[in-house]
Amino acid sequence: MESSSKGKNRRRGKKRRKVSTYQPLEASVDASEQTPPSSLSKRRKLGGVASSGGNKSTSFLDKMRARLSGGHFRMLNEKLYTCSGKDAFDYFKEDPELFSVYHTGYREQMSHWPEQPVNIIIKWLKSRNTSLTVADFGCGDAKLAKSVKNKVFSIDLVSQDPSVIACDMSQTPLESSSVDVAVFCLSLMGTNYPSYITEANRVLKPGGWLLIAEVKSRFNPNNGGADPEKFSEAVKNLGFSLASKDMNNKMFILFYFRKKERSVSDRNISWPELKPCIYKRR
Ligand code: SAH
Repeated sequence: MESSSKGKNRRRGKKRRKVSTYQPLEASVDASEQTPPSSLSKRRKLGGVASSGGNKSTSFLDKMRARLSGGHFRMLNEKLYTCSGKDAFDYFKEDPELFSVYHTGYREQMSHWPEQPVNIIIKWLKSRNTSLTVADFGCGDAKLAKSVKNKVFSIDLVSQDPSVIACDMSQTPLESSSVDVAVFCLSLMGTNYPSYITEANRVLKPGGWLLIAEVKSRFNPNNGGADPEKFSEAVKNLGFSLASKDMNNKMFILFYFRKKERSVSDRNISWPELKPCIYKRR
């Protein structure tokens, strides 16, 4: 057993040289939003050598597993950001296990964010009437539905829970004008993202809410991101008004739109491109 301080130092030395296989979700896009240093060391522990015990072969295997799954996650993430929702749906349909690989990596990334956007949305919902019906577009592990009393339609590409509707969210089985709140929490991933928002518009009741949380760097025009004003303009042209925009969080931006009572949507909306969040290996 490597219990001496020398052994510990040796392990630490290794960790210092070999940084985790993951890079923060937004770092490849905007260096100003790097993960804080305190969580970097934590990430080294998580993604690097197993921290418990001194069994070298277990540590080595853990390290190799972490490296492989990190690479697999980055590949899936890039795929989701660079293909259409339909292609993503077909891809996961062929091998639903990949969805778990994706979400294991996603959770690892998110564990370094100081605040989770889904928690802000949960707080927002809890401050309102529980009778509001919600559609969570791209629900992931359906945390939202599990955290509120409201009726929530959880939608994602793969259903690992009977409550989740598996579909491409540009075409959901939800009734038109049937929900009060539509949520996109870090889920505008496909190249055809405007069709997801158009679908949300279809299922929302007049006066309903559209909440969109997205990675901040995707809306940083100084770094190739979209202009948030242009994005808001496009959603407004679909028949919404912008109730508020929350720029206070380090990692994400949150838009609160409200569907107009009498919506007249423009047919030729100019949607800005939302650049993918590609993870690079360090
Ligand atoms: N909203 C969750 C999960 C975000 S990860 C949270 O905040 O924790 C983004 C999710 O969007 C993934 O689970 C992904 O599968 C889903 N997604 C991306 N494109 C989709 C599409 N076209 N249809 C349905 N779900 C989609």
